[in-house]
Amino acid sequence: MSLRNAFSELFGLVPDLVTAAPGRVNLIGEHVDYNDGFVLPFAIDARTYCALRVREDSRVRIASKQAGGEIYETELAELKPLTGPNWARYILGVIWALEVKNGVEILIDSEVPSGAGLSSSAALECSVAIALNEIFTLNKSLPQLARLTQRAENEYVGVPCGIMDQSISLMGKSGHALLLDCRDLSTRQIRVDFANLGLKLLIIDTRAHHALVDGGYAERRSQCEAVAQTLGVKALRDVTIGELEIARMKLPEVNFKRARHVVTEIERVSLAVKALEADSFEEFGKLLNQSHISLRDDYNVSCAELDLTVDAALNCGALGSRMVGGGFGGSAIALIREGDAGKVASNIERAFQSAGFTTPRFFDSLPSDGAQVLN
Ligand code: ADP
Ligand code: MG
Repeated sequence: MSLRNAFSELFGLVPDLVTAAPGRVNLIGEHVDYNDGFVLPFAIDARTYCALRVREDSRVRIASKQAGGEIYETELAELKPLTGPNWARYILGVIWALEVKNGVEILIDSEVPSGAGLSSSAALECSVAIALNEIFTLNKSLPQLARLTQRAENEYVGVPCGIMDQSISLMGKSGHALLLDCRDLSTRQIRVDFANLGLKLLIIDTRAHHALVDGGYAERRSQCEAVAQTLGVKALRDVTIGELEIARMKLPEVNFKRARHVVTEIERVSLAVKALEADSFEEFGKLLNQSHISLRDDYNVSCAELDLTVDAALNCGALGSRMVGGGFGGSAIALIREGDAGKVASNIERAFQSAGFTTPRFFDSLPSDGAQVLN
């Protein structure tokens, strides 16, 4: 059943509009968004859809097909951070952050796998934000919506995420990755033409989800902040590797390693852009590999499933491979020759089977457009 029909059946009236916002994959620049660094994500084909109708009163009624389809109801005046069922907070948080003055009804449906590191959360938030911005003529720019949806996730949901996911879900462009400066949100679209060069970006959802996720992320953020403070800078973005080496003695060894990942990763993003612009995919692949090693050894956010995926992909001729997202599970990417897709996937599958891990899932996607109003 179409989302419009499902909406009518659930709420008794047709929606005023339907929007869509994509998930994302980050090519390179991992764990640098909250250090004011540069990232290079692209929007994937898979989208979250939001059907919305404005009410005459101040009632808020929301449902998601991925959360059982039951309506959760509240009042605008009752919206308060960290309240409501977890799935509902992502939607309520956006209504709250955008200071909506009318009641609404919302039904969500999504193709973005949840918790796979492809940012279903930002896809959800941005589909709602675009809908509210359009229907209430809020005239917010895309960077403004990125900040507001981030605020929704930080404060209302209670997840201390950076600005990358919302930015790319809103600003993605087909055929391009987005070079995003996480400090001022300035952007540059970088052409990424894998297909024309006979290449493909394989996305592997390891389906592992280790308990460390939440605590581990917060811990690393505060380690980065501590180093920035010791060095007297606003964020690690303002530090060169030379300056970091000089300060090494002043830092706990583990914090030094965390910072070394961030500083070298930011440098790799700029090298990766140069490699893409020159169609040097061998070079680009090497940067992906270095990123993985740095995340694994200096940032310590990989896990057995992610390392096995990367090794199995490289053993099968991948040009480069790395874990993506927060880590401790989730997804990895591998840049491969188009004809090798089957071979690489079955090699990874075999490796998982031998290790006794859950069977992984495979996706691939070309860089696709950001959030849109569909009618
Ligand atoms: P990721 O963003 O990598 O997919 P997160 O843990 O950040 O993982 O976000 C997943 C959470 O977002 C889910 O547990 C759920 O609460 C919420 N969510 C995402 N998509 C939907 C959806 N379509 N319907 C309801 N809740 C969703
Ligand atoms: Mg998320």
